[in-house]
Amino acid sequence: MNAMGCRDAPVLRERGQREVFCGLTSIIWLHRKMQDAFFLVVGSRTCAHLLQSAAGVMIFAEPRFGTLILEETDLAGLADAQQELDREVAKLRARRTDIRRLFLVGSCPSEVIKLDLGKAAERLTRQYAPHFQVINFSGSGIETTFTQGEDSCLAAMAEELPETDSRQLLLAGALPDVAQHQALDLLQQMGVSPVTVLPSLSAADAPSIGKNTVFALTQPFLAETHDALRRRGAHHIAAPFPFGEEGTTAWLRAIAQAFSVDPDLFDRVTEAPRRRARRAVAKAHEILHGQSVFFFPDSQLEIPLARFLTRECGMRAIEIGTPYLHREIAAPDLELIEAGPVISEGQDVDRQLDRVRAARPDLTVCGLGLANPLEAEGLTTKWAIELVFTPVHFYEQAGDLAGLFSRPVRRRTALQQMRAA
Ligand code: SF4
Repeated sequence: MNAMGCRDAPVLRERGQREVFCGLTSIIWLHRKMQDAFFLVVGSRTCAHLLQSAAGVMIFAEPRFGTLILEETDLAGLADAQQELDREVAKLRARRTDIRRLFLVGSCPSEVIKLDLGKAAERLTRQYAPHFQVINFSGSGIETTFTQGEDSCLAAMAEELPETDSRQLLLAGALPDVAQHQALDLLQQMGVSPVTVLPSLSAADAPSIGKNTVFALTQPFLAETHDALRRRGAHHIAAPFPFGEEGTTAWLRAIAQAFSVDPDLFDRVTEAPRRRARRAVAKAHEILHGQSVFFFPDSQLEIPLARFLTRECGMRAIEIGTPYLHREIAAPDLELIEAGPVISEGQDVDRQLDRVRAARPDLTVCGLGLANPLEAEGLTTKWAIELVFTPVHFYEQAGDLAGLFSRPVRRRTALQQMRAA
């Protein structure tokens, strides 16, 4: 195997029609992670429908997201959308005293009419400080994919964090609670402290940041956040992402080295969960071993997942498509992927469909919009979006992660056997 794996592999760059959800989708998981936050999308009826159908209807709890719909008069620039925004925020502020952080979320329509939500956020923060913070980010679908909503949100928050000189670890990325608790527990057992998290559960426990902060990303799509944290003086711990036994161990080891954790202690803390993870992945390995996989660009998890599937599950990657390739963030995972697959960035969906039809992979990882047509053509698919809604990070989830890929392959084999019988 090439010592640098795919790190320096040529990249096929494509710009054409794309099939992805927009960044508003990330509000669904972000609002669960920030329990005193409200996400106010400034957009159209389409944006409202997307949020409503993706999030479902909240019957028992008051929702913590909503859409301020720009009417045709706003779009034509006839009405003062800024005044309307101020009125809506005042109403929300009076009605929802539990809300401490308001996110003004831009959309395609607000960007097209160049509604300055950054200025609105500054004005409203001045008006309501210090107990109510207003932050702006974009969830627009123009040239973005759905995980970039989280990236833009965390990057905007990073700019506003208070300053500290303390030596500390910051974990950046909105993880499901179960995965986050496991990471914090493992780090605590190794004596890594203090550890803060972005995004924090509430405004009151928002992390501080400064030149003695080191940070590790838990999600590979946080390029803008990475750059924002670096601008604040923090140092990035580069590592493969914590998917599977190998990725989790490499991620933890990079942090442990940055905090001078005794290697024997590291081994003692990780030994049992590593064994459990290997055992759990072995079941899926039996099914996935030798199978080929093709990734369409969608969640931006594609590169670390390809590393996990090829190295821990014995799969063969044909193409690894990613919407955006941030070389520095992706390098530790790319290095571990054996040279061979096409690495592609961006999308020209028709050309990529031609390639997947020619390759006929055993498993195609793609967005919802492509999955059904490809299934109808006899290809087995996995919806990429499931990977951000399911706990898949760290040791105890390694088996579940592998299972997400082995289940469709097993189903296909069972169907083939039924047809043959
Ligand atoms: S932000 Fe753009 S892509 Fe997303 S729902 Fe609204 S109009 Fe559609």
